[in-house]
Amino acid sequence: MRIIYLSFGSCRLGYNRTSPGEHLKNICIIYEVVQPDSDTKSAVAGPDIWYRDGLRFECQQCGMCCSVSGVVFVTGSEIRRISRYLGMREEIFEKAYVKELDGRLTLGERDDGGCLLLDPVTRSCKAYTVRPQQCSSFPFWPELLKNQVAWNRESTLCPGMNKGRLWEIREIKKKMLKE
Ligand code: SF4
Repeated sequence: MRIIYLSFGSCRLGYNRTSPGEHLKNICIIYEVVQPDSDTKSAVAGPDIWYRDGLRFECQQCGMCCSVSGVVFVTGSEIRRISRYLGMREEIFEKAYVKELDGRLTLGERDDGGCLLLDPVTRSCKAYTVRPQQCSSFPFWPELLKNQVAWNRESTLCPGMNKGRLWEIREIKKKMLKE
């Protein structure tokens, strides 16, 4: 299931877009990939699927997507995995990095909106190899795959899209539907 939130003021998201208008600057769009539903199925199936020849994506490690205010949902198993990776006790990690939002757990943010797991100096994720599924499945999100316009629009924000490694359709499906 895909949920898109429009948030005013304190921004929550997977990926944030700010408006140039001052009064609109805290509007953001939030994506959440929870489980496959009809949107997902329509993005991954069908003979007319627009990315049948695959898509290019290779993260450039620019850190841009992690530097903007947003919401990254984390599960209990992801918290366990990340805290182990960082060599922290789970409860210590949770206290320092996790917050609750509408009854769900999310990664916390710095004052500037960046993800707490983003190293502000190197601009890389401190837990990249064990990052949450929401992060690792980007940009193969149903809402970005639903058509080429959505994909290309996102590529203006992410320099890794349409660049580097070619992901075959079977790999994209696997990424989308993982977990
Ligand atoms: S290249 Fe894209 S996915 Fe990688 S860090 Fe930059 S914005 Fe994020």
